[in-house]
Amino acid sequence: MLDAHHPLDVHRLLKAFEGRPAAVSASAPDPVNLPMIRHWCEAMGDTNPAYTGDDAIAPPAMLQAWTMPGLSGASSARTPAYDELFALLDGAGYTAVVATDCEQEYVRPLRPGDRLTFDTVIETVSPRKTTRLGAGYFITTTMRVRAGGELAGTHRFRILKYAPAPVQPPAPTRPARPRPVINRDNAPFWEGVAAHKLLIQRCTACGTLRFPWLPGCGRCGSPAWGTVEACGSGTVHSYVVVHHPPFPAFDPPYAVALVELAEGVRMISNITGVPYDGVRIGISVELEFIRVDGEWELPVFRARSGGPEGAGE
Ligand code: ZN
Repeated sequence: MLDAHHPLDVHRLLKAFEGRPAAVSASAPDPVNLPMIRHWCEAMGDTNPAYTGDDAIAPPAMLQAWTMPGLSGASSARTPAYDELFALLDGAGYTAVVATDCEQEYVRPLRPGDRLTFDTVIETVSPRKTTRLGAGYFITTTMRVRAGGELAGTHRFRILKYAPAPVQPPAPTRPARPRPVINRDNAPFWEGVAAHKLLIQRCTACGTLRFPWLPGCGRCGSPAWGTVEACGSGTVHSYVVVHHPPFPAFDPPYAVALVELAEGVRMISNITGVPYDGVRIGISVELEFIRVDGEWELPVFRARSGGPEGAGE
């Protein structure tokens, strides 16, 4: 028994169609005529003078156009064999079709008034092929077009009849954390972070420490500054727990803390080592650096165990 769903059996069934007719002694719906030639040339933008005037010929590439049955298909010359072939493929799940390529040979020019007939043969059916559209079979048909019984040209046409590959939704990827804007006023801070140093700006005119980084001193206005490396100890001065709005790069709820460094300046950061609801004002924290999104690092603060009110369990 042949299994019409097994690819090897399907191919054996398909091979039996090779050489069978897809159209026999079919007649073109219309004789070669100037109006169709003119419409074709307009659509193609082809201004070749050979296709106009009293001695006009038809553009050779119109060969197949003369044989087309039209949208209704009422004058279709298709044989049962071709319909059986399609029914077999549809039944095996190869329900989609796409034209892939065609080759034409022109034996003699076609002129207005020529009455055309044609025969089409199912030439080959390929083994099952996997394509980006899906797996399927290439079917090649060859049409021989005659004018007044004389061969005018051949039209070899190939389609892929395939099972559409399921559309794979892209794997959900977690959006990256927002990146800091690094400019000439704060670049040394981020260079310090990369070296695992938390640098505080210090006004060289009046000695005031400042954080976050700014171009000038808020106390004396001097633009001159140096840096002091934070020792890394701090306490939670205040905090909020963010429930809403959700941001795809973060998992709410989470705590955002205002940490007072031992040097006296305050910095907004994350608290690690304790659940979001374990953060308390006054708990003692220690600087650490975490890597986020696998590529860049941030200074955060780890809750020290044994802080006030039993925080840091
Ligand atoms: Zn100053």
